[in-house]
Amino acid sequence: MEPTFSIIAPIFNEECCLDELYRRISEVMDQTHEPWELVLVNDGSRDASPEIIRSLAAADKRVRPVMFARNFGHQIAVTAGLDYARGQAVIIIDADLQDPPEVMLEMISKWREGVEVVYAVRADREGETWFKKLTAALFYRIIFSITDVKIPMDTGDFRLMDRKVVNVMKTMREHHRFLRGMSAWVGFRQEGVTYNRAARFGGETKYPFRKMLKLALTAITGFSYFPLQLATYLGFITAGLAIIAIPVVAIFRALQSQAFFGQASTLIAVLFLGGVQLISLGILGEYIGRIYDEVKGRPLYIVSEDPENFHSDDQIKNQGEFS
Ligand code: UDP
Ligand code: MG
Repeated sequence: MEPTFSIIAPIFNEECCLDELYRRISEVMDQTHEPWELVLVNDGSRDASPEIIRSLAAADKRVRPVMFARNFGHQIAVTAGLDYARGQAVIIIDADLQDPPEVMLEMISKWREGVEVVYAVRADREGETWFKKLTAALFYRIIFSITDVKIPMDTGDFRLMDRKVVNVMKTMREHHRFLRGMSAWVGFRQEGVTYNRAARFGGETKYPFRKMLKLALTAITGFSYFPLQLATYLGFITAGLAIIAIPVVAIFRALQSQAFFGQASTLIAVLFLGGVQLISLGILGEYIGRIYDEVKGRPLYIVSEDPENFHSDDQIKNQGEFS
């Protein structure tokens, strides 16, 4: 039977949290009295996570493991989860229990009222550094101001999406993915629920500053041309300055002033313009690199074991035993 609800959890070295994740999710989801499944996407973990996922799946058929051939990153792991999910409503949740599973019930009741995307807004974040909170706050405000898509502030990937929305998202195969932006972009009826983001149940963050920066760049390039237009604006500004500078310098010369003589002023102007040009080239490079990735058309992820195989292997084994 097709489940009503699919819960997707991306997993990268989360051995600390998986048993507790399963326990808390089943406790909450059993309260709905409807069939559900838990899609655990193992994103190339190098700890005991794969074994724990397999044993959870062996004990409970509702747990469906998707095993990646290597680490493809959080956004891709969630994408695979969306591809494999079969539910009428699909919920994305972090595996470290920072997103309290209890909030899912609130999301589900909104979904029953007809809301098609229920995103969770972080009212408070426990156990995170001021640096993470500050950069996150800044990030959401920049994205909000330079993109046309109105991405809700302070939301993560913790959200419920109706099957209709998931089907649309499944057709969007871009390689550099910013899922919360994509799920805002599709439209439909969207509403938020607020929650307090808990501290990690165990282990440590898998999102160092480097990865956060990469995600920010994906979000900006994926939803805005602003950085490209920046070169045009800067070009106009410097050309404007040069046009003003010509008569000013001419007047100073006519008055026999010593201003604007010498190498220093020339050097500053050349270095400034050189810098602006290199930055503009770099921005162009970011977009071209992304175009190149799209053109190659490689698969988004490679699965070494999918849930179909996992449970059918099981069936073959069982049949073997019975015959
Ligand atoms: N994650 C993943 N692949 C990665 C990095 C992270 O699947 O390459 C998963 C991770 O296991 C967790 C979720 O993405 O379930 C969010 O990561 P994390 O909690 O480390 O991020 P933070 O909450 O610190 O921003
Ligand atoms: Mg976390």
